[in-house]
Amino acid sequence: MDASTTSGGARWLPGAPAPAEDDIVKCVACGLCLPHCPTFRLTGRETAAPRGRVAAMRAVQEGRAGVDGAFAAMMDECLACRACETACPSGVPYGRMIEAARAQVEVTRPVRVRGLRGLALGQVMSRTWAMRAMAVGLGVTQALRIDRLLPERMTAGAPRVSLPRLARRMPVRLGSGPVAAVLRGCVMDVAFRPVQEATMRAVAACGHTAVMPDGGCCGALAAHYGHPQAARRMARARIAEFEALGAEAVVVNSAGCSAHMKQWGHLLADDPAWAGRAHAMAARVRDVLELDVPSEATTTRPVAVHDACHHVNGQGIRAETRRMVAASGARPVEIPDDGRCCGAAGMYSVLQPEMSAELRLSKARAIAASGADTVACANPGCAAQIAAGLREIGADVDVRHPVELLRPRERT
Ligand code: SF4
Ligand code: SF4
Repeated sequence: MDASTTSGGARWLPGAPAPAEDDIVKCVACGLCLPHCPTFRLTGRETAAPRGRVAAMRAVQEGRAGVDGAFAAMMDECLACRACETACPSGVPYGRMIEAARAQVEVTRPVRVRGLRGLALGQVMSRTWAMRAMAVGLGVTQALRIDRLLPERMTAGAPRVSLPRLARRMPVRLGSGPVAAVLRGCVMDVAFRPVQEATMRAVAACGHTAVMPDGGCCGALAAHYGHPQAARRMARARIAEFEALGAEAVVVNSAGCSAHMKQWGHLLADDPAWAGRAHAMAARVRDVLELDVPSEATTTRPVAVHDACHHVNGQGIRAETRRMVAASGARPVEIPDDGRCCGAAGMYSVLQPEMSAELRLSKARAIAASGADTVACANPGCAAQIAAGLREIGADVDVRHPVELLRPRERT
């Protein structure tokens, strides 16, 4: 994977992966992806369009430009939502290209900035105790309302942390049958405990022993933000953990994580000791939305359905979200904005606050216009971003993961 090279005239920087030439040349610059790109739709700039971004990668590959500030700005402004990848008729694998391009950009950042980002993405997020300590700090500032004194860019996309829930012991083993591991994760573990518990119940209802091992982050954010070595380290740790459990399946309730984990085979493809194991474990990963969970009806209300980009674009999961909402008895309602990205995109609300705020408010208004009093949303970043947007516009809409709407029953 560490394929950085300056050979053949390419001006990629050493020390980080680079977008593959075979991927770059697939783009025929047709522009069919442009209407699907949120950043292009907001700005109308070619530099904020997938075609422009791939052209910038091609310029570096062909030695006509370097990985400079202009290149970094174009890659940083991308949401990595992969809507362009879904729309592209030429099969340009944009998701892995932007990850590699960002790893290149990371090399150009000041050592202090790179070190801090590496510390957060590679060290803090990979340790459950560190994430919990951070969550306690965040929960206290939220309970005392001190967070209101912080800049909006620091707080807008932050999930709400419930300190009593954080203190409660989580069930880590439930049901009977073959073992299915449930990813503990990083943010899900500290800020979305009810979703974790609902996932355990859903997996058990599907005839498995649901087991949640101690380890946390899958490495998705590290991969998305230019730290592939940290992502690889976390992937190896999680794979070893799931293997030790003898897990027949690995169930994940966060779109960004399930999309990333299904790519573990690609992430570790050049590691002879891990490639086969990564490939085998990736094949066992299931997003919880892909489970057909038997459930009692809990509501007959209309529920708006938000599609996370990493479900629709990364995994082709769309009908499954509506099926799970309908399994709760609710009537799935479409949000009238053509499935536009909510602007959460990992750390986008912190790093690109203006663009993120515009997308957040647009999504919140569209949800309010749907008339539903609940919105189903299966990704922690989207859930926090949408909840913040709804608060901003004063809309009283509950944000829930689809699995939380279920009341699982034994399969007959
Ligand atoms: S990424 Fe695909 S859709 Fe977009 S310009 Fe290139 S070939 Fe066309
Ligand atoms: S990943 Fe999303 S924001 Fe980035 S170029 Fe593709 S469509 Fe645009």
